[in-house]
Amino acid sequence: MSRWIFPAFAAVMLLLPALPVPDFWITQSTYIGLYAIVSLGLVLLTGVAGLTSFGQAAFVGVGAYTAAFLATKLGISPWLTLFVGVTLAVAAALLLGALTLRMSGHYLPLATIAWGLALNYTMANMEWLGKYDGILGIPALSIFGVHLGTGRGLHPLVWAIALAAALAALRLLDSRPGRAIRALKNGSTMAEAMGISTFRYKLTVFVFAAFLAAVSGWLFAHFQRSVSPSPFGINKGIEYLFMAVLGGVGHVWGAFLGSAVVRLVEDKLQVLLPQLIGTSGNFETIVFGIVLVVVLKYAPDGLWTFVQRWLPTPVRVRDWDGAAPLPTATKPARGELLLDVDRVRKTFGGLVAVNDVSFQVRAGDIVGLIGPNGAGKSTTFNLVTGVLSLSGGAVNFRGQAVAGLPSRQIARRGMSRTFQHVKMIPEMTVLENVALGGYLRSSAGSVKAMLRLDRAEERQLFAEAERQLARIGMAGQMHELAGNLALGPQRLMEIARALCTDPALLLLDEPAAGLRHKEKQALGEVLRQLKSEGMSILLVEHDMDFVMGLTDRIVVMEFGTKLMEGTPAEVQASPAVRAAYLGTEH
Ligand code: ADP
Ligand code: MG
Repeated sequence: MSRWIFPAFAAVMLLLPALPVPDFWITQSTYIGLYAIVSLGLVLLTGVAGLTSFGQAAFVGVGAYTAAFLATKLGISPWLTLFVGVTLAVAAALLLGALTLRMSGHYLPLATIAWGLALNYTMANMEWLGKYDGILGIPALSIFGVHLGTGRGLHPLVWAIALAAALAALRLLDSRPGRAIRALKNGSTMAEAMGISTFRYKLTVFVFAAFLAAVSGWLFAHFQRSVSPSPFGINKGIEYLFMAVLGGVGHVWGAFLGSAVVRLVEDKLQVLLPQLIGTSGNFETIVFGIVLVVVLKYAPDGLWTFVQRWLPTPVRVRDWDGAAPLPTATKPARGELLLDVDRVRKTFGGLVAVNDVSFQVRAGDIVGLIGPNGAGKSTTFNLVTGVLSLSGGAVNFRGQAVAGLPSRQIARRGMSRTFQHVKMIPEMTVLENVALGGYLRSSAGSVKAMLRLDRAEERQLFAEAERQLARIGMAGQMHELAGNLALGPQRLMEIARALCTDPALLLLDEPAAGLRHKEKQALGEVLRQLKSEGMSILLVEHDMDFVMGLTDRIVVMEFGTKLMEGTPAEVQASPAVRAAYLGTEH
């Protein structure tokens, strides 16, 4: 049944003008389509990627004013003005994004407010843009000699574009770049550790949203046949954000629902409120503000979630049998020096968290890094994986210095890690989470994904993700949502994701922490099996018993310094180690 919902909806919207519905409906429906194109961009940007823009109306304005100016003043064809308008909007988004997206949270919202205000000011004050009167007399569109007009003729074009945009967004989200985009909101550190440039995908989504806004603006100019500054101001920018949030942050179809609700309610309020209050003004904004607070309180996921309950949940068809394997890297020979940690040091103010610690990991070994709480294990781990910068010393991996590299560059060289506190995308399936690990072994980009030209590679990625899940005994749970798993399986899933990167060295930060006895045994079994397959592992662990039966060598830390290094038997026999552990808690 789910296969028919989209075609049926599309057919209704495209054929609506041919049905005996009033002109007013067509006008409203055209507005809804125009709004949906813009708020769709915000669903991706704000709902999925967690970035806020108040300036989408300004991008709409770029599309609209470019069309208006070029068509009326220079007589340029509308298809060329579309291209110019979109190019200008994309260029502005690239510039704004490049300046702000590397920085933390608040810079983008602030920059988009400034951008919205500046653009609106320009429109309202420039003689050549008609100041507050705007530009009149924009010609209507024609396609293949067919005059579309501004009513029933234009409606199918608006909706064809809106539906195509929705389809492109859905396809993008269900792809290699899409999984990276879905990791932006809550999984940036993890994504970077999987080799993903989060900056790049933030920029991609921001530019895509600006692109959609400019296309909507171009349509808007030809629909209204005139432009003026007010529909492109900050108020409208907030309204677009409102549509995206109301409809359903994170749901592509929520953009359509939000746009429809806002358009229809706004229309009613504009008639009703002045009658109630007695004076005219933009009072609907106040009502929207109140509604937004109520919606955020009682339906934080938006109205679409209520519709979604009545729709069948799509299931991923397992279509990757026989897919070609992903490329693999050449592995180091057994016994080769893999990781050389040479007198690394980390100070936090006056505290020396890691004090000139040195150790080595050779290919095929499991090395344990143990010590009481606060000994500096996680800090050492983060120095090796590039999450923290060194205060001194050097880290060499496979003969190359890696200190100072960002974690995604280190991942590229064949180091893969898990996290002391599990980092995953809870609303993605186990399979999709693990497929994130295959990012660096695949290449499909956003445009390819929107055009569905990435399917062969997707099958390869899912085949590999399933293979890694089978390796740790979790293939049976691949379609479950990761957030629904217990802690034990979540930790195993992280190991599968790390394995999916095809690593030369696996780094595990306290994989047994918080696990029940049975789960610890299962984890131990998985690690033993990986070792028998030749995997090299650096295991950071607090639980001494857990590492005893597993490791070839153990490095013991206390108060930031290396206390000793030896075989499990030597460590167990050491009075110094026993004292360190006794001194703290046991
Ligand atoms: P372990 O993983 O062995 O329990 P950590 O490496 O997390 O220990 O911490 C070592 C010491 O460094 C602790 O005293 C801790 O409080 C301190 N520390 C860790 N991270 C930071 C930080 N970002 N800023 C300040 N102190 C820190
Ligand atoms: Mg720790």
